[in-house]
Amino acid sequence: ESQLNPNYTFESFIEGDCNRLARSAGFAVANKPGGTSFNPLLIYGGVGLGKTHLAHGIGIEIKDRYPEKTVLYVSAEKFTQQFIDSIRNNTKNDFVHFYQMIDVLIIDDVQSFSGKEKTQDVFFEIFNHLHQHGKQVVLTSDRAPVDLQGMEQRLLSRFKWGLSADLQKPDLETRIAILRKKLFTDGIEMPDDVIEYLAYSINSNVRELEGALISLLAQSSLNKKKITVELAKQMIDKFVKNTTREISIDYIQKVVCDYFDMPMELLKSKTRKREIVQARQLTMFFAKQLTKNSLATIGAQCGNKDHATVLHACRTVNNLAETDKRFRTYVDDLKKKLTLA
Ligand code: ADP
Ligand code: MG
Repeated sequence: ESQLNPNYTFESFIEGDCNRLARSAGFAVANKPGGTSFNPLLIYGGVGLGKTHLAHGIGIEIKDRYPEKTVLYVSAEKFTQQFIDSIRNNTKNDFVHFYQMIDVLIIDDVQSFSGKEKTQDVFFEIFNHLHQHGKQVVLTSDRAPVDLQGMEQRLLSRFKWGLSADLQKPDLETRIAILRKKLFTDGIEMPDDVIEYLAYSINSNVRELEGALISLLAQSSLNKKKITVELAKQMIDKFVKNTTREISIDYIQKVVCDYFDMPMELLKSKTRKREIVQARQLTMFFAKQLTKNSLATIGAQCGNKDHATVLHACRTVNNLAETDKRFRTYVDDLKKKLTLA
């Protein structure tokens, strides 16, 4: 099972200035997996810009051209979980062996390896084996290699062996083309002025653009209204308000307190009780992840801590999430609540 999503093809991945290098590098890799200097190919860019789509597209294309090759798509999170399970079940050798047998390994969202040393070690081992045997590795990341804090230097230096290509926000023309393609594929008609209005109004990322399109179609069919710019405007006024809400440290503190049913004073206090320390560390971790505040600001707002304490908190959360199932649930739950994902 390659785990590839058949909808995420090259064909459905619209080309634009924003993705030309990444797309053509992906295409070159798909033509000659393991046989180009793009090994590994690292595709990076912000959320909703097409990393996962392109990664699948490469895998699908390779499967088409080289049906005998084993292609595996896996998220870095799933890889980590499988690795942890293999340790628990004493099957680490099987785990490593399984991955070393693959011809084309695609790992999505490798930024989640950050701070997870044991996972990085085993990935390093697998990567070296694949690379030495001329197998292709494709990685995606939500940030550039230089910004991958908490990633071992030797891994980062491996990433530099290949090509890093970024995906940028699509320009207006590309956004229009993406909407047209999607409507065409689904066999839906929409007036040009509405398409242009949508593309013009939603410039954050492709996922939100698609979300807006789906909302509009739902609105129109539920309320039996014609699809007009006016309807699109009403929908976007609501939609954009809901999605571009800036997350603040205050908000994170409130969500964490609600989640643990804990008074805010305790969270902000200097108490060293374990549950409270953990809640505080989770707050700092998410403040670092989800806001643009400096470490110093985050520390100051979380009980007058310094920036080193915040860094330590982030590391601790990463480590605990890797080793402690219950803690991992906290992280996942809070992330869902904070990002409304
Ligand atoms: P990421 O992994 O970077 O967060 P995804 O690959 O999940 O983003 O893309 C989000 C959505 O946008 C998906 O439905 C994907 O099909 C679509 N998408 C992104 N880029 C393009 C593109 N260039 N052409 C067509 N659809 C795209
Ligand atoms: Mg993705």
